[in-house]
Amino acid sequence: MLFLVINCGSSSLKFKLVETSWEQIENNTDKIVASGEVEQIGQSYSKLHLKTDGIQRSEQIEIKNHHEALEKAMQLFETATDKAIKMDELSGIGHRVVHGGELLSESLVIDQEVEDQIEECIQFAPLHNPHNLEGIRAAREHFPELPQIAAFDTGVHQTLPVKSYMYAIPWHYYEQHGIRRYGFHGLSHRYLRMRCAQLMDKSTSDIKVVTCHLGNGASLAAFDGKTVIDTSMGFTPLEGLVMGTRSGDIDPAVVTYIMSLENFSREEIDCVLNQQSGLLGLSGKTNDMRTLLKLMGQGDERAELALDVFCQRLKKYICAYYGLLNGADAIVFSGGIGSNSYEVRRRAIENLDQLGIIPDCSLNTELVVTEGRFSTPDSSTALFVIPTNEELMIARDCYRCLQATN
Ligand code: AMP
Repeated sequence: MLFLVINCGSSSLKFKLVETSWEQIENNTDKIVASGEVEQIGQSYSKLHLKTDGIQRSEQIEIKNHHEALEKAMQLFETATDKAIKMDELSGIGHRVVHGGELLSESLVIDQEVEDQIEECIQFAPLHNPHNLEGIRAAREHFPELPQIAAFDTGVHQTLPVKSYMYAIPWHYYEQHGIRRYGFHGLSHRYLRMRCAQLMDKSTSDIKVVTCHLGNGASLAAFDGKTVIDTSMGFTPLEGLVMGTRSGDIDPAVVTYIMSLENFSREEIDCVLNQQSGLLGLSGKTNDMRTLLKLMGQGDERAELALDVFCQRLKKYICAYYGLLNGADAIVFSGGIGSNSYEVRRRAIENLDQLGIIPDCSLNTELVVTEGRFSTPDSSTALFVIPTNEELMIARDCYRCLQATN
């Protein structure tokens, strides 16, 4: 079956066309037929990129909103391909939705009730859910006859035990206002656990794995089989690791102290912690790991410090999750940083041989974007690089949803 998978951000619409079936899922042979992206929606020059079977096309046109973005992308797709794949072969549209709250965990066909619940979760994800909803509405308008399926980034984390998702604050904040840890990047973490189990020739129910999604936003999850026993992002994606521009964990007293120091509003302090902190705040120059590594090579001390803080926080989380799991079968690295930077991987797991975590340094340096194992044969924990594939996860969920309802 063929699915269009859509991921809408504030000014972007990414899409992939994925072919999948039971057999393809089992053999991991699902096919990405095409992929593309519309960037800078709402600006005078939007960019539209499309990639399909060796053909790459790009256009610059004015695109006012997500409805138009989808329409133009589909037009370009149909004219750019002389292959037999036409939109009338689509079986459904899958949508990445960032926040599903406590009620929406499994991927499911979107009806009015589901849409209302996604809307309700805007209070928890004001920067993401509104755009996800725009994508859903645009796709429904464009493909009124097709089922629309939502897959949630918070979804798999709904398996978290209560002791992992509660904050130690007065109870009514949870009961009346839903303030708890939700966790994010769930589709990526699920993919990494699934692919890791396949590479180890084990069932997903049987492995204990720590998955590290390290991109501009970054988080970890600790899986005991199919259950996430802890994850590093919380009520919002601000908690946990040091990220490109987000502080990650911080003493809450620092927040109130800066607010009174600077006479900041909620919006202003949000901006400091989400957009001016992390690698950018520490280095004073960049939120981009590649640039940071270059600066470090040129002797920039603040860049070196930023990397040190990033890697120490990461190592602390890896070790904490290793302990919570009572040992892990595998640790997986992914995301732009985790898939590419052997230096970050090296620092994050150096000197852990007492825990049975032993990297093969030359294998580590060889793995750049490619999938592979880089632990030594005597390491009791296997180490993997696995480029993530959230869209594939969504397409498979679409397939399972439709099979279950037919
Ligand atoms: P993502 O959000 O997953 O696209 O990841 C973006 C992050 O990955 C940025 O900080 C990039 O600098 C980083 N990144 C991409 N390629 C490399 C590379 N070759 N080495 C180190 N970091 C990289």
